Amino acid sequence: MKLVLATGNKGKLREFKQMCHDEVIPFSDLLGEFDIIENGDTFAENALIKARTIYEKLGDDYLVIADDSGISLPVLGGAPGIYSARYAGENATDKDNLYKLIEAVKERALKTTPAYYTAAIAIVSKYGEYVVHGWMYGDVIDEARGDKGFGYDPMFIPAGFDKTLGELDDEVKKKISHRSKALKLAQPIINMLRTK
Ligand code: IMP
Repeated sequence: MKLVLATGNKGKLREFKQMCHDEVIPFSDLLGEFDIIENGDTFAENALIKARTIYEKLGDDYLVIADDSGISLPVLGGAPGIYSARYAGENATDKDNLYKLIEAVKERALKTTPAYYTAAIAIVSKYGEYVVHGWMYGDVIDEARGDKGFGYDPMFIPAGFDKTLGELDDEVKKKISHRSKALKLAQPIINMLRTK
């Protein structure tokens, strides 16, 4: 069964390829680009919506994985959370979202505040549906530092570090990220389904 990733997000695709040794195909290579409406109430629901949409178009020969992820700030009641990709509006870029969150932190006169990333990975195949989660904890700061990673990474300092993910090597993020933790849990499920 071929492994297809239900995302158009370039940052996520790059990380999945690094973590899965390139064997993962982006859905757009097979179906072209299109938007999937994510109207779930949780990361898990949205990940399942994305994986199911692509699986239904591709059929039984494929194993589809989808990631729904985002950043949450307890001081903002968990926002942006599942709305991380459109925090600054429907067509917002990663930079728009990043600077909107920096402004929200600044408005509260905070230099730094706790935050965490969540990743839900859904796996859909003819054998059924699975969802796993991973989290990465740390703090966000009131400015952007560095240009590595993507999204909110330039303002996020993982617990135990003194640099943002924008400044730290990709290799560091690969070891500690919400996505890599979720993928570690997904890997045995994927292996089991592919060898059935
Ligand atoms: P999704 O594609 O609907 O799951 O939205 C994910 C959004 O959450 C991205 O557009 C980023 O804004 C944010 N996000 C998720 N994971 C990361 C990460 O690893 N680094 C930075 N931002 C992330």
